[in-house]
Amino acid sequence: MKLYNSLTRKREDFVPNHPEIVKMYTCGPTVYHYAHIGNLRSYIMEDILDRYLRYSGYNLKRVMNITDVGHLTSDADEGEDKMLKGAQREHKSVMEIAKFYTDAFFSDCAKLGIRTPDVVEPATNCIDDYIRIISKLMDTGYAYFAGGNVYFDTSKLERYYVFNDFSAEDLDVGVREGVEEDTNKRNKNDFVLWFTKSKFEDQALKWDSPWGVGYPGWHIECSGISMKHLGEDLDIHCGGIDNAFPHHTNEIAQSESYLGHKWCNYWMHVLHLNTKGGKMSKSKGEFLTVSLLEQKGYDPRAYRLFCLQSHYRKILVFDWENLDNAQLAYSKLIARIAALKPGDGELDQAAFDALKKRFTDALDNDLNTSLAVTALYDVLKYQTNDATKLAAIADFDSVLSLDLIARADKKREELKKQTVTAGEFTIVSESGESDAEVEAKIRARQDAKKAKNYAEADRIRDELKAAGIEVTDIPHGAKWKRI
Ligand SMILES: [Zn+2]
Repeated sequence: MKLYNSLTRKREDFVPNHPEIVKMYTCGPTVYHYAHIGNLRSYIMEDILDRYLRYSGYNLKRVMNITDVGHLTSDADEGEDKMLKGAQREHKSVMEIAKFYTDAFFSDCAKLGIRTPDVVEPATNCIDDYIRIISKLMDTGYAYFAGGNVYFDTSKLERYYVFNDFSAEDLDVGVREGVEEDTNKRNKNDFVLWFTKSKFEDQALKWDSPWGVGYPGWHIECSGISMKHLGEDLDIHCGGIDNAFPHHTNEIAQSESYLGHKWCNYWMHVLHLNTKGGKMSKSKGEFLTVSLLEQKGYDPRAYRLFCLQSHYRKILVFDWENLDNAQLAYSKLIARIAALKPGDGELDQAAFDALKKRFTDALDNDLNTSLAVTALYDVLKYQTNDATKLAAIADFDSVLSLDLIARADKKREELKKQTVTAGEFTIVSESGESDAEVEAKIRARQDAKKAKNYAEADRIRDELKAAGIEVTDIPHGAKWKRI
């Protein structure tokens, strides 16, 4: 399998460190608000990587953090406390907010067909791990104490800008207006490992440490949690592209300085979901959540299909028309699969293998999900029996996770019921009596309804009512009573 590695900026063969296990780490959500669908694009594409590695026979262990402390809006270590802001907005405690939005995040993931990583670790569970790493960085001279906080000293590194060719001038552009420069830093890119002097009043969560009562910086979370569960090396680290700098850059800086060797081999970054106006964010424009899509009548899996139709390293542009198209494509796909007959023929292994090869060729090529979806349509067009087609679709869907088989089964059942209804129309009276004249009129009313002659159907109903007969529709028929 070839995977684009952001670290080398090349497509490389994926070779795990240890043949018996693949170790993968994903930066998780900050749980102070609902996730917007732009962030969820990253989780969908990481889920494809997760599922495809397992599908390809790797024994995967995947870890994800939940940021329930740290919480800064800015990429720099300045800004506001997101968790506290969320808590104040909703008049809840910080931990109540974290629990509520963690549950909301996983509920959204389930709707989008995203499997939960093997280990999900809240950042507040691992304070001792961060303290151990920071202590060693202090001992070895990679960190310093200034103005009440512990900082990582980026001047001690041979190479800091690992993912890009940023220059100091470029970084100035990224500095947000109204954010004060932290004068305790020795170098511009130094970042906080441990805060005791919070810029935020009423910092809610604090722990004792060798440097005073305080809380960890954001970046140290992911290094600490990854090492706790996956040890001193990592095969793949994933995240959204906006995590590449400075978050992932800082993760590498502190992890490799602590370990004294290379930490992670492959870095996968998913590009943004943009609206036509630019990058989607929580603070700008319409706040697009899974719940909002559902309220507007979209199936969350149609959004997943929309994401899969594009490559993860391309910016994807969202608008409602594009989502309408995906919704329509998804419904049609389900209908076409529902039209296949289960048990039609024996599995044709040669056809199955030929179809599967198209699918794996697509995903082996840096997760080309758009071609993998094409391979799914190829199955429907292929000259083979329905049993083979359904087997191939079920196989592919273990990676694509579009819930195709279950939805098609449901659709097939619905169609079957409709056929039964059309064939059988039963008339019952509440008292148990039978009346040929009344029944004939009810049947005539049903025929008129079937012919869409609703005026005639209503006329017959009124005629019956005038004769003291009330008719009620029931599944597959009608019941009547004398009033
Ligand atoms: Zn992270």
